[in-house]
Amino acid sequence: MMQDLLNRPIRDLRISVTDKCNFRCKYCMPEEVFGFEYKFLARSDILTFEEIARVANLFMKLGVTKVRLTGGEPLLRQNLAGLIQQLSGIAGLRDLALTTNGYYLQQNAHSLRAAGLERITVSLDTLDANLFRKMAGRHLSLDTVLAGIDAAFTAGFTDVKVNTVVQRGVNEQEIIDLAEFGRRLGVTIRFIEYMDVGNLNKWRLEHVVPAGEILDIIRGKFSVGPLESNYRGEVARRYQYSDSKGEFGVIASVTAPFCGDCSRIRLSAEGKLFTCLFSADGVDLKSLIRGGASDAELQERIVAQWQQRSDRYSEERSEPNGQIVGRKVEMYQIGG
Ligand code: SAM
Ligand code: SF4
Ligand code: SF4
Repeated sequence: MMQDLLNRPIRDLRISVTDKCNFRCKYCMPEEVFGFEYKFLARSDILTFEEIARVANLFMKLGVTKVRLTGGEPLLRQNLAGLIQQLSGIAGLRDLALTTNGYYLQQNAHSLRAAGLERITVSLDTLDANLFRKMAGRHLSLDTVLAGIDAAFTAGFTDVKVNTVVQRGVNEQEIIDLAEFGRRLGVTIRFIEYMDVGNLNKWRLEHVVPAGEILDIIRGKFSVGPLESNYRGEVARRYQYSDSKGEFGVIASVTAPFCGDCSRIRLSAEGKLFTCLFSADGVDLKSLIRGGASDAELQERIVAQWQQRSDRYSEERSEPNGQIVGRKVEMYQIGG
């Protein structure tokens, strides 16, 4: 089994299929930076489905069993179902999932399911339509995202999750409403601590609502108890409601980092490979692919990169004097 310098195997591949997004979440693609003038990657700069499937296939041979498609907004990539169909046929793949803002889920849920997608995570930070527009963009309709979640169930998805990034002074008051929404619909909500990803969101520790506090807020309303992890390296701590009305998760990326079990690697839309969410730069696989590298050569490069990996950014950040500065990759480039 291939391991990195901290004895971590590779298990989980996240593929960003586009750098474009129709939302302008302030913590990811602030409107003042990503205006009309902003130049996104040209089509020829992003990996084709064939290139993505080829790389995914090599990863599967190296031990990856889980693939998550993300972005930017993955449903902006034309015919995403075509990619899903190619990926779902790869031997060794046990879990194929998608993270989306949900806006175009209504019209796509059925074809995604038919193509072999197994799980969907919708990002949703509030159930208040005004706050939603404030957080994600003025013209956006919360109802469209909610209809997308409904459509996912109608299309036959049984594992639909919601990711909620909790920010101090922005949406912490939404926690109970979202928990109730999850209970009503049978959706697992995962409350995520706001992270210092990228260089654009002016993150400060004071903006983080610690997982312990999120849990206390939920405990103030519902009786809950802890659940076992589904597998080693699961990032969410799981809890169930004592009245059996489902479960929720809390992801303490900042206050209780989980680098020790991190088996994730990320492929950006332009074909760069990142071994950490906070990496400064990635390995340019696209140039190798388009320069005619054989499968063996590509695999060798991937193995070399993983074997020299020692990333543990979130743990380092929490160490005494552990404030880390320097340029980092942006979230919209590698998709979380
Ligand atoms: N556009 C899709 C979406 O929003 O689901 C996929 C890409 S988005 C970058 C992936 C996830 O990253 C979303 O759930 C988003 O809320 C989360 N995210 C973005 N910036 C974050 C931050 N600073 N801290 C924690 N999560 C963040
Ligand atoms: Fe778009 Fe997702 Fe980033 Fe929001 S978090 S701007 S939906 S990529
Ligand atoms: Fe993995 Fe890097 Fe996040 Fe640590 S900081 S859990 S190594 S992606």
